[in-house]
Amino acid sequence: MTVSEITQIQTLLSTPKRIVIVPHKNPDGDAMGSTLALYHYLKQYNHLAVVIAPNDYPDFLKWLPGDDTVLKYDSNTAHCNTIIADAELIFTLDFNALHRVENMGEELANSKAIKLMIDHHQQPEPYALYTYSDVTMSSTCEMVYRFIEMLGDTNKITQAMATCLYTGIMTDTGSFRFAATTSETHYIIGKLIEHGANNAEIHNKIYDTNSYERLQLLGCALNNLKVIPELNTAYITLSQDELNQFNFKKGDTEGFVNYGLSLNNIKFAAIFIEHKQENIIKISLRSKGDFSVNEFSRRYFEGGGHTNAAGGKSDLSLNDTVEKFISILPSHKNELTS
Ligand code: 5GP
Ligand code: MN
Repeated sequence: MTVSEITQIQTLLSTPKRIVIVPHKNPDGDAMGSTLALYHYLKQYNHLAVVIAPNDYPDFLKWLPGDDTVLKYDSNTAHCNTIIADAELIFTLDFNALHRVENMGEELANSKAIKLMIDHHQQPEPYALYTYSDVTMSSTCEMVYRFIEMLGDTNKITQAMATCLYTGIMTDTGSFRFAATTSETHYIIGKLIEHGANNAEIHNKIYDTNSYERLQLLGCALNNLKVIPELNTAYITLSQDELNQFNFKKGDTEGFVNYGLSLNNIKFAAIFIEHKQENIIKISLRSKGDFSVNEFSRRYFEGGGHTNAAGGKSDLSLNDTVEKFISILPSHKNELTS
């Protein structure tokens, strides 16, 4: 962001406004952490702020401070449309293309509100008047911290905000181990602990609330894990029947794809999860090094994301999707084996 943009945003925020804050569909820890932190920040200036999530999110995020104020667009559409139409400012956080919020995107596009994007994914679309986009950032939560810092307001970071921001940085960096975790990330994490984020408690609330059934589902996923050693690739499948068998709940498969990547020499890992209700296969892709799963997903599976973490989907059956995946791989042999 330029100094001039920051000054303009400071002016915009100097009087109370009607503000909507939006995370992407199927919000994760970074999406909910960043939107709720911004919500708590704006409330201090007496703005009428509300977080509208396109749909529901996993239970392991439902303790975040402010969670009880979040509106869900898919189950409360008419009310949310009124709020969006009436908004003066709309912040979109942790995504950069309006299709990432599905039919809510049309309402956002049609709204006369000034739009501000804060995001760290690749190839941002030009829908916002103010675009704070940086693909080198660990997380949108790290960017919200920096945004508040640019506004000269780090002294306004409350324990609730610190808790939300810590959560998103922790989840998007795989607990501070992915390559995008920098010394600056750790510096910010240190500041958030000073502002009251309780690291052990947050970790416990996010990661140590497994149900027995989720661990059994993980066992099933690991049983289904296949390795293609000559292409340094591993993949997991989960069918709808398998999900049903272990009483699948939203968020239960979070992180499963990383087990493939934890194998010695594996550079590329995928998980294919059947969603009978939506009639799609949801795909998560992860890589190590230069192999870009963002480009792979954009090219073959209608998705995108980051160089080392992306998502996508397929309208084919589970088996056909896996066959398509396997048939594509040899054309990337050089990148996968270099
Ligand atoms: P996940 O595999 O955990 O769902 O997503 C990995 C990363 O890719 C996240 O940063 C997520 O926001 C992004 N992502 C997931 N699905 C899609 C998609 O369909 N399109 C785009 N552009 N990004 C996605
Ligand atoms: Mn993120």
